[in-house]
Amino acid sequence: MTTRPLIFAANWKMNHGPAEARAFAEKFLSLTASVEGRRLWFFPPAISLAALSQALQSRSDTLVGAQNIHWEPKGAFTGEISIPMVTEVGARAVLAGHSERRQLFGETDEQVARKTRNALAAGVTPLVCVGETLTERESGRTEQVIVRQMGTVIQALAAADWGRVVLAYEPVWAIGTGKNATPDDAAQIHELIRMELTRHGVSARVPILYGGSVNGGNVASLLSRPQLDGVLVGGASLEPDKWAEVIDKGSRAKVRPSGGYDLVEG
Ligand code: PEP
Repeated sequence: MTTRPLIFAANWKMNHGPAEARAFAEKFLSLTASVEGRRLWFFPPAISLAALSQALQSRSDTLVGAQNIHWEPKGAFTGEISIPMVTEVGARAVLAGHSERRQLFGETDEQVARKTRNALAAGVTPLVCVGETLTERESGRTEQVIVRQMGTVIQALAAADWGRVVLAYEPVWAIGTGKNATPDDAAQIHELIRMELTRHGVSARVPILYGGSVNGGNVASLLSRPQLDGVLVGGASLEPDKWAEVIDKGSRAKVRPSGGYDLVEG
């Protein structure tokens, strides 16, 4: 039997330059052991990709990814960075559609779909984020928003691509606010996402992570829900000991069958 891996993904946002990333890795590796079927992903700022991937290279359970990429491989796009550039310095995954990119930088569903498709074409694993704002939630449009955000990505990919995609449900109102979705809320939307994947005939193997103010105090109750395959974490991933605590408590809450993990990483 194959099963989905348990993924702990750290989004450092605009924190930790190369020297801090190296120091983080050194301390973090002394705090966490490698566990079968558990993947530890890091999304540092682009400037720290090389330093972090080098510092983590002894640990095959880790993976380093870029927080954002342009979909074109090169060209006149001042300030942007391409997929070949980030892979050259060790990135094997990319975030696509993080709510801060959608909200603060105007990233559209179509751009998210292009980034996802081109990352896959370059052999890089996309971690695609979907989620509703507070206004959308309060006006009863959560389901509609998630289905719309997923729809453009589903249309852009072939069914076979889905064995290499990871999704994250990140309610925008829960990101960096200290308000996390309850385990029931999260499980309900994860079920909706899984149903949407099934409805389009794409793989039920896609891991779905939850993100939004996850920390050492709430990770166990969230991950005890079978619908959640891992977490995407900002604030609580910035210090090695706090991040190690999230990973430790979350892993204990999740009973995983051993062997046969079938996500193909970049
Ligand atoms: C994120 O950046 O994806 C995130 C979930 O942040 P935080 O954990 O700080 O809410």
